[in-house]
Amino acid sequence: MNTTPIPLSNPDVTRAEIDAVVAVLQTDRLSIGPRTEAFEAAVAARAGRKHGIAVNSGTSGLHLCVKALGLEPGQEVLTTPFSFVATTNCLLFERVKPVFVDIDPVSYNMDPAAMEAAVKPTTRGILPVEVFGNMAHFEAYERIAKKRGLLMLEDCCEALGGVLSGRAAGGFGECGVFAFYPNKQITTGEGGVIVTDRDDIRDLCRSLRNQGRATDAWPSHARLGYNYRMSEITAPLGETQVKRLDEILAKRRAAAALYADVLGDLSELHLPPMAQPASASWFVYVVRLADAFDQADRDAVIDALRKQGIGCSNYFVPIHTQPYIMEMLGTKAGDFPVTERIAARTIALPFFANLSLEQAQRVREALAGAIAARARRRT
Ligand SMILES: *Cc1c(COP(=O)(O)O)cnc(C)c1O
Repeated sequence: MNTTPIPLSNPDVTRAEIDAVVAVLQTDRLSIGPRTEAFEAAVAARAGRKHGIAVNSGTSGLHLCVKALGLEPGQEVLTTPFSFVATTNCLLFERVKPVFVDIDPVSYNMDPAAMEAAVKPTTRGILPVEVFGNMAHFEAYERIAKKRGLLMLEDCCEALGGVLSGRAAGGFGECGVFAFYPNKQITTGEGGVIVTDRDDIRDLCRSLRNQGRATDAWPSHARLGYNYRMSEITAPLGETQVKRLDEILAKRRAAAALYADVLGDLSELHLPPMAQPASASWFVYVVRLADAFDQADRDAVIDALRKQGIGCSNYFVPIHTQPYIMEMLGTKAGDFPVTERIAARTIALPFFANLSLEQAQRVREALAGAIAARARRRT
């Protein structure tokens, strides 16, 4: 049996990226320089936004947006329990109260009707996520925000390059944040970029990421700030990756099509909707076991795959059931039934630009075997 490891994710870095990083090392500007500015402009352009502000992670970017939007302790923001914890954490950093809204079971994004029903006089904003790169409902979210006078912060960390009805991810609401951890569509190792059309948000985020300086050049500190700067060494990695974004997205789309092909006849599996517009940006490839299986089955399938060298994961554990969130917010299992039903059965499969047919077939064989073993236990 072939047990050569297949990673869960794998960055697509070429000679061009290596050369770009080496070139900046031969200069004497290793922070706050022209490469960072070029990267910011390139990301902003992909989002159809005027400004980009580079930071050292997606989480830092979300934190700065919460501050720049003027969200205050005790105010409430509607967000999804089915995401990476940073989506909620950025609110908690500022003692803003996350109010969770259950998801729709097809796109895994917040259900717009549930969102609208959750709006109260104390609600100040919404913080939606394109979960796994799916852009469903973003126009509806924007309509709700407009109608109810809410601020909208887009956590587009999973959706770079995605397009919905001609509008790019990062282009909804007041501002959005992309992330460039190595499992994202493109990477800077660590890093993020805030995008916005608003000059005041750009100015505040620039100041806040650089110790609250009034301007980058001057050691006069106008406000309490952070060191959330992106290194000038990583910026050219990102800049080169953005130049290759269309190529990388096409390869990821092809990898998703490969899975749809080889997994299509496994009736115990829900595949992610390929009917997403062709312009979707694939972040991860997450399959879901049929409702007849439970969380123990799912965990056993993940174990079986890992034993065969296949990287996979249980994306996501619902945020409202994370121990520290239950303690801080008083949430509990049972609060968001759709999220919990989905989250108990999802499996993120190995997914990266250069996924081969042979690898996809090995994943299929392992999955089919593990699912059959669990199905036999049930009968
Ligand atoms: C990746 C990601 C982030 C930010 O991650 P960092 O590791 O801080 O760059 C935020 N939200 C979501 C939904 C993500 O997937």
